Amino acid sequence: MEYYLLLLLLFITIVIVRVLFWLWEFVRTDLRYYLYKLRPFPKEYEAILLRYFPLYQKLPRFLQKRLQACILVFIKEKEFVGVKLKIDETKKVLVAANACLLTIGHDRCMYKNLYTIYLYPETIVKKQQTINGWIVSEQKEVLLGEAWQSGEVVLSWRDLVAGDINPSDGKNVGLHEFAHQLDMLDGEADGTPPLPLKMYRWWTKVMQKEFDKLQQLYKKHKKGFLDYYAITNAAEFFAVATEAFFEKPKKLQKEEPQLYQALKAYYKLDPASWD
Ligand SMILES: [Zn+2]
Repeated sequence: MEYYLLLLLLFITIVIVRVLFWLWEFVRTDLRYYLYKLRPFPKEYEAILLRYFPLYQKLPRFLQKRLQACILVFIKEKEFVGVKLKIDETKKVLVAANACLLTIGHDRCMYKNLYTIYLYPETIVKKQQTINGWIVSEQKEVLLGEAWQSGEVVLSWRDLVAGDINPSDGKNVGLHEFAHQLDMLDGEADGTPPLPLKMYRWWTKVMQKEFDKLQQLYKKHKKGFLDYYAITNAAEFFAVATEAFFEKPKKLQKEEPQLYQALKAYYKLDPASWD
């Protein structure tokens, strides 16, 4: 009898802790987001969006309002660290805009596991050393950005601006890295972000089919519907497809309607209808 009582007590404790955690999360981010939706958006922030983030102008008004609220939450919650670069409001607003565009369909600011954004002035060169017996080799890896599971995103400011200023070339390092962060919300960068249960089977089927199709095109030296970096692995496929979904939506919808539908269902957005 005491054994059952102990189990019941444990169960009740777990439920209480879970509810408290959920309440804390709600107050910390969701409540703040809904309150910010009622507040006027600073004029100088909107000027930054109009200058550097042309996708903003394409959004319907209600999505602009959601983007504004998410930007304010993001700036309030996240730490911005400049590496040989001064952080100012322009940088914060533009980084936040990239992150938030991906979550406005959900009417939430979804980056609860993201803490710090490291901004570099330009392309990041990483030295990698491999030791093979007596030989030590140095390789240079050139990066536009990186997303870490521990809650950090690294971005090159110059490449972020270049990606945003041209909103229709299908290349956008900001959207790419924040798509990785969303993918990792369930603990794994596997190309499948957290989804409603009923969507998993369909999502996996569509993504696998599209991945295989792109891989076949690559083998035949034909032009792919996504940048071939997408076939690196499933996580990169999702991130590269996200760039195309927001920057070349009509083309993606026409050429790969199933891939477009899957992304539309996940993001709860229909960028092909924005202009
Ligand atoms: Zn990537």
